[in-house]
Amino acid sequence: MFLKRLELQGFKSFADKITLDLDSNIIAVVGPNGSGKSNITDALRWILGERDAKNLRSGRAEDLIFAGTQNKPRAGLAQATLFFDNSTGFFPVDFNEVSVSRRISRDGTTQVFLNKSEVRLKDIIDFFAKSRLGARGLTTVNQGESDIFIRSLPLERRVMIEEILGLKEFRLKKAEAERRLKNSEDNLEKAAALIEEIKPHLSFLRRQVTRYRNRETILQSLTELEDRFYGGQVWNINRELVELEKERQAVEKEILVKKEEERAAEKELARIKDSEPAANEALKSIKLRKDELLAKKGELQRELGRIEAKLEIGTRQGGADVVKLKKMVDEAKRLVAEALREEDFSEVRRKLESLAALFTETEERREVIPDAGEERRLIAEKITELEKGMAELEKEEESFSSGIREFNEKFRQAFLALEGKKRETEAFIQRLNRLLLDKEKLEFRLQEITRELSEAGRGIGELKEGAGNLPEEEREAAKRQILRYRQELASIGDIDQGTMKEAEETEARHEFLVSQISDLEKSIADLRTLIKELDGQIHENFSAAFKSIDEEFDKFMKIMFDGGSGHLTMEKVEAGSGENNGPETERVPGVEVDINLPKKRIKNLEALSGGEKSLVSIAALFALISVSPPPFLVLDEIDATLDERNARRLGEMVKKFARKTQFIIVTHNRAVMEAADILYGVTMTPEGASRILSLKLSPEGQTPAEL
Ligand code: ATP
Repeated sequence: MFLKRLELQGFKSFADKITLDLDSNIIAVVGPNGSGKSNITDALRWILGERDAKNLRSGRAEDLIFAGTQNKPRAGLAQATLFFDNSTGFFPVDFNEVSVSRRISRDGTTQVFLNKSEVRLKDIIDFFAKSRLGARGLTTVNQGESDIFIRSLPLERRVMIEEILGLKEFRLKKAEAERRLKNSEDNLEKAAALIEEIKPHLSFLRRQVTRYRNRETILQSLTELEDRFYGGQVWNINRELVELEKERQAVEKEILVKKEEERAAEKELARIKDSEPAANEALKSIKLRKDELLAKKGELQRELGRIEAKLEIGTRQGGADVVKLKKMVDEAKRLVAEALREEDFSEVRRKLESLAALFTETEERREVIPDAGEERRLIAEKITELEKGMAELEKEEESFSSGIREFNEKFRQAFLALEGKKRETEAFIQRLNRLLLDKEKLEFRLQEITRELSEAGRGIGELKEGAGNLPEEEREAAKRQILRYRQELASIGDIDQGTMKEAEETEARHEFLVSQISDLEKSIADLRTLIKELDGQIHENFSAAFKSIDEEFDKFMKIMFDGGSGHLTMEKVEAGSGENNGPETERVPGVEVDINLPKKRIKNLEALSGGEKSLVSIAALFALISVSPPPFLVLDEIDATLDERNARRLGEMVKKFARKTQFIIVTHNRAVMEAADILYGVTMTPEGASRILSLKLSPEGQTPAEL
């Protein structure tokens, strides 16, 4: 048997622990009014997951706990445990026996156990739903609810059918999916609203970030250009400075050498100067003496002229001799005049010699002018002497002059050498000065570059080495570009780190929201698909079974009413109440009941008698379980309104269906009791607690036993 046993303790009127052996196909629970029979069906419904205290005939959850009587104290907690045989694997768990236990304490704490492991109530409801069991629907039909199928709304009827067809699991899944869908849609709406909210600020921040990024690009370009523009120059200047320094050292060395040479040349000049011959004084005295000789010579010549004049007179006296003498005197005059004009002493000498010869000839004519001839001879001698003296003087003068010329030449050479050295030194000094000037210019340029860079907030040492050199023709354009970049940077301003951080955070938040939206949209789509699939499965299973249920219903109607007919139809009804809630109300499929009773024209279900209502409901119940037999059914006094004949029919039907379904029936009806395999009698003890008597029905007879 599927249901093995039920254990109750402190549950409602069952103060003490009782165990109800359920190992029979049909179990009837009998006993006087108020003895506690329905409390057993309440316990079963409770274990199956009922949440609503009203459905357990309690005002509050604590009312499930034995309240105590005058003679018996109240219980602290209520507990009910149902044991299932799972050897067929009805429940998808690895246990041959499954026990589900529910407990409630006075403080309102409820606990649920599956095979003694605590689980959530929701888990147990799902667990049963997966196996097509549940607290609602027709698995347990409560007392006074035998006409429940008739009384229920079309939508509730559909739910009952679905539960018995095992579609509750799909419904639960669908409800869960709808709940998640609603949740996702709400979240999507919130995320979309949040995105809309941050959008304007985000686009402002993005613009700022773009500006700042642009600034970085410009700064990078500027730095690169500065590196090339200034770095190239600095590199060139430094290279030139090194070259200059090398050259300067070489030139300074050269200057030292030249100075040394100059000093040597000066020394040489001084030495030569010191060796200057003292010839000038001597020459001067020679000159004086020469002048004296010349003066004497002049006197002699004048004397000679006087003598000649004497001779001319003698000639006039002496006739031809005189003429001849006159000629000789003219000749002598001419010679003297020439000698006087002559610069060259040797020529003077020669003339004087000719003159002397002339005087000698004149001598021969002394008889003509004897005195004059003597005088003339004496003068001639003196002149000869003079000439000798003169020749000596000239010789002396000559020796002095050649010494001076030699000295002068040496002096000139030494002087020129010194001058040459001085010019060379000067040339090197000028070159050194030019180098120093060039160096200064280069250093000035370096200072300029340093200043320009420091104005731009950079140091010369920051320039990247080897950034390349700019060709001369590109320099001007580069300079203009550097200025343009700097202006652009100034107009963008400094990067505000706060804005950057905020932009980063807002961007991350935006990204998160976008991805959340995408996830939500995906999950919404998935959930919609799932809901559609579940709807499809429910619809498919429901439609397939519904036709058979309808046929079975008609059949059972005919059995229960000895004729007539009954049909179930699907109609679109208002969701919820079935009343008209306006055009907005969703219309959902519900089950309408259409009956035809023999010899009666009643169509309206409300117009049926209590018993008729129960019969129609029982016909519907059996139609359902014939299409999808549940493992067990709990029927609490569904026979209450039936007459003997119909109660017997019910008993027969139960017997027939007991092959597939285990029945627990609370009844007062003998005919139904007779259908049972075992009877449990419930009585109330004098202390006010329920107790149970087992009354096994067997061919051997009845053996009552108190439990
Ligand atoms: P009937 O044949 O009239 O339908 P029944 O046998 O089904 O009667 P129940 O309705 O199961 O009777 O039991 C009702 C009894 O249980 C009442 O006497 C009620 O006082 C008792 N009862 C219900 N809850 C509690 C409780 N918490 N503590 C003690 N007794 C309780």
